[in-house]
Amino acid sequence: MARLLLIEDDLTIRTPLIRALRERGHAVAAASTAMAGLRDALEDRPDLVVLDLGLPDLDGRELLRMLRAVSAVPVIVATARDDEAEIVRILDAGADDYLVKPFTAAQLDARARAVLRRGAAEAEDPTLVVGGLRIDPRSRQVSLDDAPVELTPREFDLLRHLASRPGQVVTKRELLTEVWQIPYGGADKTVDVHLSWLRRKLGESAQRPRYLHTVRGVGVRLEAPGTTA
Ligand code: CA
Repeated sequence: MARLLLIEDDLTIRTPLIRALRERGHAVAAASTAMAGLRDALEDRPDLVVLDLGLPDLDGRELLRMLRAVSAVPVIVATARDDEAEIVRILDAGADDYLVKPFTAAQLDARARAVLRRGAAEAEDPTLVVGGLRIDPRSRQVSLDDAPVELTPREFDLLRHLASRPGQVVTKRELLTEVWQIPYGGADKTVDVHLSWLRRKLGESAQRPRYLHTVRGVGVRLEAPGTTA
């Protein structure tokens, strides 16, 4: 069951659709103008928005852009046109999926469940993957090329912080603040020592780096081997 917001001005479409979706166990709210739909989407925080493009006060694509500027709610667009250019425009404007009118409640229900499943899968799996490195923040387990890597809590936090921004240089100052929780002072040496331990556990060295690259005078960058020449 999901909380759906249907933004559709046509009563002959809206009324039967609401009834059919409720019969399928969804909680359905409806709005008949773009501005009312935008307000409801922000105030009621539905799980999913179904958006008709032909609305009386504003083009549905315009509404989609406004909604996307302030919300990540999944949106399925209902369109009367099924030409490729139109579909591309809809998806580019930030829709998660689309349906071509006329469609049945069963089709909408199936699309809605697929979109919501995708969203749930993304939200539920916070595993960080960089090349052959997998870092699971929930179990605090790390594997490299499918082999487990045993890390101390500090080494884990350090690796997770670097892996959250792969390819970017992270300064030792930032690592002291974010990983060691030392907002001022602290010694670069602390970071260097832990980095060398982490390197050893990942089977590499500062001289022969694979994942952990020292950027002299700046900090360290984690990236998958072969990412940069
Ligand atoms: Ca319409």
